[in-house]
Amino acid sequence: MASTAPLDRYCVLGHPVAHSRSPWIHACFARLTGQALSYDACDMAPDGFADGLNALIASGVRGCSITVPFKHLAARLAQHLSPRCQLAQAANVLSLKDGQIWADNTDGIGLVTDIVQHAGVSLRGIRLLLIGAGGAAAGILGPLIDSRPAHIGVTNRTLHRAQSLVESHQALASLQGVALQALDLQAVPSVQTMERPFDVVINATACSLQGAGVPVGGHVLGRGALAYDLMYGPQAQGFLDWARQHGAVPRDGLGMLVEQAAEAFLIWRGVRPPTVDVVAQLRDRWHTLLI
Ligand code: NAP
Repeated sequence: MASTAPLDRYCVLGHPVAHSRSPWIHACFARLTGQALSYDACDMAPDGFADGLNALIASGVRGCSITVPFKHLAARLAQHLSPRCQLAQAANVLSLKDGQIWADNTDGIGLVTDIVQHAGVSLRGIRLLLIGAGGAAAGILGPLIDSRPAHIGVTNRTLHRAQSLVESHQALASLQGVALQALDLQAVPSVQTMERPFDVVINATACSLQGAGVPVGGHVLGRGALAYDLMYGPQAQGFLDWARQHGAVPRDGLGMLVEQAAEAFLIWRGVRPPTVDVVAQLRDRWHTLLI
C-alpha cells in the first residue's frame, strides 16, 4: 500500500528564481535515489527574506537552497555555520531543524568538481582570475584556493568587496601557497598591467543573469584558457561567445549547478545522487547551451 505520510518539503529561495533548474534537478535526484520529497521554487521579496524564511520554518520545510541575492543574508540568519560557510560568510544550503537554521556552502565543491573531474582541467599551479565578489564568489574562493593554483586575482565592480574577500581568505591562501590579490576592475583590462594572461577565468558576477556584458577585456584570456560562467542556459550565451571569440574554451555553470545540488542532497538526505546523466538530460530537455 502506498504511504500516506506527508512528503518532506524543500525549496529554492531567490529573486529572481524563475530561471532556476533546481526543482527539476532535485526531482530527478529523488527518483534516482528512491527518496520521497517535494521541492519547489519560491521567489522572495528582497526585503521580506527573513520573514519568509521564518514562515517556511514554521510550516515544516526541511531545507532550502539559496540563490541570488540572498546567500550572505542566509548565512547571517543561521544559528549554525559549517566551516566552509563560516569562511565564505555566504550560504547556498540551509537545513531547518527544531526551529533552527544550519547553513552550509556547496558552491565551491560543485564548481571544482565540474572543472577538475568533468572539464578535465587541473587548477594546480595555474593563474586564475575570479570576477565578482558576491555570494557565489565568496562560496567558491575557499575551494579554489584549496585546489592550489599559483595565483588568484579577484576583481569586482565594487573594489572594496573584492578586497574584503581577499582579506578574509588570505590566511588560507598563505597556508596553501597561493598568491591571492584583489585587482581593480578598471585596471584588469589594461594589457600593460598584466604580466601574462590567465589560464582560467571564472565569471561569478550576475552580469549574464542581467543581460549585461562581460566586465573584463578578452585579453585576460590566455590561448586555450578555460572561460567559465557560473550562469547557465541562454543567458550565458553572450559570455560563451565572447570566450570563443578570444580563443578560450567556454563552459557554462550547468555542471556546477548539478554538482552543488548533489552535495546539498547529500547533506539533507544522507545519499549522494549520480550526476552525469542529470546534466546530460538537462541540456537535452531544455535545449540549454552545449559547450
Ligand atoms: P550576488 O551576491 O548578487 O553578487 C552579484 C555579483 O555580480 C557582485 O559581485 C556584483 O558586483 C556583480 N555584478 C552585478 N551586476 C554587475 C554589472 N552590471 N557589472 C559588473 N558586476 C556586476 O549574486 P551571486 O549569488 O554571487 O550570483 C552571481 C551569479 O552566479 C548569478 O548569475 C547566479 O545565477 C550564478 N550562480 C550560479 C551557480 C551555479 O551552480 N551554476 C551557483 C551560484 C551562483 P558588486 O559587488 O559591485 O555589486
